[in-house]
Amino acid sequence: MNPILPGATIGVLGGGQLGRMLAQVAGRMGYRTVVFSPSSGSPAGQVADLEIVAEYQDGQALASFAERVDVVTIEFENIPIKALEVLESIVPVRPGPRALFTTQNRAREKEFLIANGIPHADSVHLAGPHDLLPALERLGAPAVLKTAGFGYDGKGQLLLRGPDDNDAALAQLRSGAGVLERFVEFRREISVVLARSPSGETRVCPPIENRHRSHILDVSRAPADCSTTAARQALDIADAIADALDAVGVVCVEFFETNTGELLVNEIAPRPHNSGHLTIEACAASQFEQQLRAICGLPLGDFRFLVPAAMANLLGDMWEQGEPDWPALLAGESVALHLYGKEEARPGRKMGHITAVAESPAAAVRAVEAARVAAGGPRAARR
Ligand code: AMP
Repeated sequence: MNPILPGATIGVLGGGQLGRMLAQVAGRMGYRTVVFSPSSGSPAGQVADLEIVAEYQDGQALASFAERVDVVTIEFENIPIKALEVLESIVPVRPGPRALFTTQNRAREKEFLIANGIPHADSVHLAGPHDLLPALERLGAPAVLKTAGFGYDGKGQLLLRGPDDNDAALAQLRSGAGVLERFVEFRREISVVLARSPSGETRVCPPIENRHRSHILDVSRAPADCSTTAARQALDIADAIADALDAVGVVCVEFFETNTGELLVNEIAPRPHNSGHLTIEACAASQFEQQLRAICGLPLGDFRFLVPAAMANLLGDMWEQGEPDWPALLAGESVALHLYGKEEARPGRKMGHITAVAESPAAAVRAVEAARVAAGGPRAARR
């Protein structure tokens, strides 16, 4: 297969921040970008050479998009599989429909993990409300109910502590299928981001450590503070997952490291991931550059951490009293600001992030947390 070289055009399905950061790298490396997004002026569309505004079901718009680009990738997981199949008949689509089909639904993702013998949190598929009580009996409380499809950033997640929470769970199940997961007592959460080329070559980034607030990623640090054995194991599992999915592009695997030291896969995303944003400052090739290299069939870049780093998300909550205090934030000298160009700030909405590099991951975390507090953001969490 001939590589897709600078000067070619990258098609991106989805208009969010992941597409924006991919388009920024693509521009630097001499590529053009066309974004396909259901709404105009999207974060990715603002920095792309062209934004096609249409629904993912619009066959004509999809065909016209496909004809303008040399390869298609995704920045958003919930793209209808049919849209990918339409595009695939015209242009290479990476990752392809199969990897996306598996990972865009939690029940299918669990089946995939079981079929491949990959350790994960014990779970039960719930087709409807009638499946809840038997599942709770099997797994016990506390447990976490998650919607099977279209869930992200903790949306559609309910922590079930005991019988008092059952009504809310039953109501959620009336609006769609779900997955009930055993609550995992973990010592830390880590993620592994890797890039995989069309020939199956991979470059795996060492584990990143993640802390969540209300089920949404809050702060990431790298490298993770896990043992060499755990890190090796996580990289091997992530590699095996990308191979089994036959994914081309970037894949992120999120893990729980349990209190007993076991690694359990929590989630798989066949695209760049929020926790990997710090690779922009910490690695020779960021996750977005790796995505570009992988989908274009080019050699993959160096994915090691050249320096410890930390990333903190800027959520819409910070805009409640007006615009955050940017000069105060930037007074943190090592802090790099990334804003996604979203007009409307809503609570929980990812508006941007900041990254700091420092002499240690802990110092980098202190730098991003201090900068965020200075700008009016949430108080630093105690560790
Ligand atoms: P998810 O959207 O599945 O990645 O979940 C978001 C976050 O919620 C995770 O990163 C954990 O912090 C928490 N969480 C989700 N599932 C579980 C579980 N089974 N046990 C404990 N915490 C969980």
